[in-house]
Amino acid sequence: MTPIEALERVVHCLDRSHESGFKTKAFVRALDVARSTSPDELARRAAAGTLTELDGIGSSSATVIAEALRGDTAYLDQLEASTVVPITAAGHRYRAALRGDLHLHSTWSDGGASAEAMARTAIALGHDYMVLTDHSPRLTIAHGLSAERLQQQLAEVAALNESLAPFRILSGIEVDILEDGALDHTDDVLSQLDVVVASVHSKLRMPGPEMTERMVRAVEHPHVDILGHCTGRLIDKREPSAFDPDAVFGACARSRTAVEINCRPERLDPPAPLLARAIELGCWFSIDSDAHATGQLEWQPLGCDRAAAAGVPLDRVINTFDAAALLRWVEGE
Ligand SMILES: [Zn+2]
Ligand SMILES: [Zn+2]
Repeated sequence: MTPIEALERVVHCLDRSHESGFKTKAFVRALDVARSTSPDELARRAAAGTLTELDGIGSSSATVIAEALRGDTAYLDQLEASTVVPITAAGHRYRAALRGDLHLHSTWSDGGASAEAMARTAIALGHDYMVLTDHSPRLTIAHGLSAERLQQQLAEVAALNESLAPFRILSGIEVDILEDGALDHTDDVLSQLDVVVASVHSKLRMPGPEMTERMVRAVEHPHVDILGHCTGRLIDKREPSAFDPDAVFGACARSRTAVEINCRPERLDPPAPLLARAIELGCWFSIDSDAHATGQLEWQPLGCDRAAAAGVPLDRVINTFDAAALLRWVEGE
């Protein structure tokens, strides 16, 4: 393992442990510095013990670099062991059945890794496909994709699919549900994409009846395939939005829009009582990481455990389908 590969793996492990603070930033910075330093200089400095004289290389990152150069993986082994994402036996049945991930981000919007890096990690996790769902333009803080940038992304996806086959990157988007329930791209744009996730990211506190109307309109849209993180809650930080679950999930069931089981540790949407109601109403589901970094692609076990605890029927989880069957489902067959 090269020093760069070792540092990349450290960042991956920190991301999967939901460690988003100073430590991760320090390693990301160290990775940048290591990438822009010649391998010769890294080796020379490691031998002389002067790696930390490089601006951005601290003692931990210097240890990782020096260990990689001498074929030692002590730091990384310890980190690998301490950051494994746990899963219950019941959840494992779901995880083993998942063929892909239907909601994830890349550096095209607010993700931290390229589409290619996300795909290579998905392959390493055993997935057959992933849907690349960066944000839509209204979410400016997340560098949402205009129709023009989306076209550029589609060209990159086509090129990546050439080199990564038989793995498939399906095209997609996480489109914003606007205040009136309309979507943040035209039908023309959405019709070009394989899978459309629709999510509420603004005005989360609107009164229940209005939010219900807004969400029902969105999930009934013919191009919408998945309702993303339905309540918008952030555990201990933001209360769930108010809406009538029977109306919204009923509309999802009727219009074949899957209810996402969002695996992000701070979201874990929908909360258990809503998930139970969605099952009763006959909904379809997808178990998605909503990853913004390669390590976060490993979060699916969190949703699998919740699906198992709620008794989600495995045959209603659309990312247990292979890519061809998923695309047929999306088409309504
Ligand atoms: Zn979102
Ligand atoms: Zn997302």
